[in-house]
Amino acid sequence: MNDEIRVPVNLPLDSDGFLRRECPNCEREFKWFSHQEGGPDAEAVDQYFCPLCGVPAHTDQWWTPSQVEYMRGVSGPAVDRFVQDSVQQMFKGMKGMKLVPNRSFSLGVDTPDALAEPDDMIIAEPPCHPNEPVKVPEENLKQVHCLVCGSAFTA
Ligand SMILES: [Zn+2]
Ligand SMILES: [Zn+2]
Repeated sequence: MNDEIRVPVNLPLDSDGFLRRECPNCEREFKWFSHQEGGPDAEAVDQYFCPLCGVPAHTDQWWTPSQVEYMRGVSGPAVDRFVQDSVQQMFKGMKGMKLVPNRSFSLGVDTPDALAEPDDMIIAEPPCHPNEPVKVPEENLKQVHCLVCGSAFTA
């Protein structure tokens, strides 16, 4: 039995390949460029700096509320299946026990509609790390912080 549940979640990118993010510190939204996993340009870091307020946070702290909501909805049915399979595995090994699978068994989570990603915000490329561009609202272009090192620049 594998007790790790992996649920592939495809979050939508905008047409330039940017993913919407929300800063856990200032709670404002921006976007970062979504590199291919293990891509040559991706910086191996364990924290990112918010382009808007410059405060760093761990790389998995940047989900927007709608992304969290979406992932909860997508992973629900998968967790449901996982639970069902493990229960059946458990009963298989028991003599004289017979499990009648109940197909209507459900945690009551519906798969949500796909998220849509509008093409808003402006691309800002940090001179120190041009391989990690971000998108920020236009009024924030005067001072943007580099995602990787936190240096401030004007886009
Ligand atoms: Zn911030
Ligand atoms: Zn930098």
